[in-house]
Amino acid sequence: MLEVSTLNLKNFQLHLFDQIYLQSDLVEKFAKDRDQVSSDEAFMVCSVDNVIHRFNLWMKLLPSVQPFFAIKCHPDPVVIRTLAALGCGFDCASKTEIDVILDLGIEPEKIIYANPSKPRSYIKYSKEKDVKLMTFDSLEELQKIHQIFPEASIVLRILVQDPTASTVFGRKFGADPETIAPKLLEEAKKLSMNVHGISFHVGVGCKDASVYGKAIQYARDLFRFGSEIGHSMWLLDIGGGYPGREIDNNRFFKIANIINEALDNHFSDLSSVKIISEPGQFFCEGSFSLCANIINAIEVPADRITKKEEDANKRGIMYFLNDGIYGSFMLAATEKIYVEGLALRPRKDAEKLTSIVWGPTCASVDVVEEAIEKERMNEGDWVLYPDMGAYANGLATTFNGFHRPKIIHAISKDNW
Ligand code: PLP
Repeated sequence: MLEVSTLNLKNFQLHLFDQIYLQSDLVEKFAKDRDQVSSDEAFMVCSVDNVIHRFNLWMKLLPSVQPFFAIKCHPDPVVIRTLAALGCGFDCASKTEIDVILDLGIEPEKIIYANPSKPRSYIKYSKEKDVKLMTFDSLEELQKIHQIFPEASIVLRILVQDPTASTVFGRKFGADPETIAPKLLEEAKKLSMNVHGISFHVGVGCKDASVYGKAIQYARDLFRFGSEIGHSMWLLDIGGGYPGREIDNNRFFKIANIINEALDNHFSDLSSVKIISEPGQFFCEGSFSLCANIINAIEVPADRITKKEEDANKRGIMYFLNDGIYGSFMLAATEKIYVEGLALRPRKDAEKLTSIVWGPTCASVDVVEEAIEKERMNEGDWVLYPDMGAYANGLATTFNGFHRPKIIHAISKDNW
């Protein structure tokens, strides 16, 4: 493996390699660097090449849809700058996220402020910064925007969701497309506000691709009704929900097929409609690997882990990792997403033991992996968690004084 150089750029560093390497090889290289200086700090490796690959995959399969990266998923400046250079827009949820984009010199037209409930002060700020595109899903928000920023380009977020998605939003966001949404279009008209388009989010980790088709059909009905009552609608925003791991690409292919078909069926006569999306996980999940260190490995009777009497005579082991549910595994814990760490340097013939992997804090709920059979590892070993780029670093806290893992960015010469 050949690292050509380290580029020290404004606010970040890029490790430049002679070619594209597997993320596990990159992690091994950077773990070795840490070993050499006796550092046990957890770290993440970001493959910028993968971010570029994912963008190209998007454009290949959904060429008519311009992605607006949902930066909440991972507000990493290198990912943002890379995607900006490729022509991506950005979905921001707050003033701070808007600033992240504007501070990088990206134009306000590249932003959709896609949070249907915004503080008044943030709407005012959007006006000052000329961030016009923003979503709403209630009469109250519509009236608020009308008072503060009547020239805003408002987009009505409707509720169409996959109830089996890992995270659904329907209880909190979205206007019912049949009952509430037409009323909101009428209310906007009464306020002399033009509704510029329709948006939806079917849920993070969408499993049922057909929901996109249904949502696009609802959007078309609302475009029809909207133009009948005098709105000039030009934007369709098909939200997020797209999987981010290579292993899930078949699911993305299916989603892309359904979207393309629905756009053909319902929007081909509206050639001037701009279609955007708000993918987060799609770009990030598979682009980052986490490598954490075992700071303690304590042998215990297995029943202490499993709470089953019959395991009293079995050997078990409790690992303490220097990252946990208050850190990179927050989403995994709250959404009950299964994660499995792999020994970065597996030992030959390592015995399997009933194991639990604890996070480093004093909280007893800080469990990363629960009662599983795992190959024996030792204190000081590195554990690799692939596909950790989505809603991990951005959600991580510094509870108990533990830092978020440092992110190391790697890119191949060709892509640089
Ligand atoms: N857009 C909005 C409004 C969201 O709330 C989210 C996630 O919470 C996203 C986009 C990104 O979703 P995903 O990561 O599923 O692409």
